[in-house]
Amino acid sequence: MEKEQEQRLAMNEALFRDVNERIREISDTFGQKDATYDFLCECSDPECAERVVLTSAEYEHVRAVSTRFVVAKGHAMPEIESVVEQAKDHVIVEKEGEAADVAIQLDK
Ligand SMILES: [Zn+2]
Repeated sequence: MEKEQEQRLAMNEALFRDVNERIREISDTFGQKDATYDFLCECSDPECAERVVLTSAEYEHVRAVSTRFVVAKGHAMPEIESVVEQAKDHVIVEKEGEAADVAIQLDK
């Protein structure tokens, strides 16, 4: 895959991650500890509107590693990431190569 395309895909995912981070912040403020929330699928498709259900703590667990993202089942892209954990309705992927560099740079 072209370096530029790989960077663009990684940036889409980082954008979804920012939105999810807000959801988690709000859930921490108002929600209950073990309640589940609808997070956006963080796959590289900018048109994707799929939701994944996680508790705030589960999402925090994904966020603990800057190169990890949560995506809906079947949305992982083997060219730029590998599946590290499988859950009922979602998988946790870890970026590789160029995509990992972008993910680290954009993590706040
Ligand atoms: Zn998706």
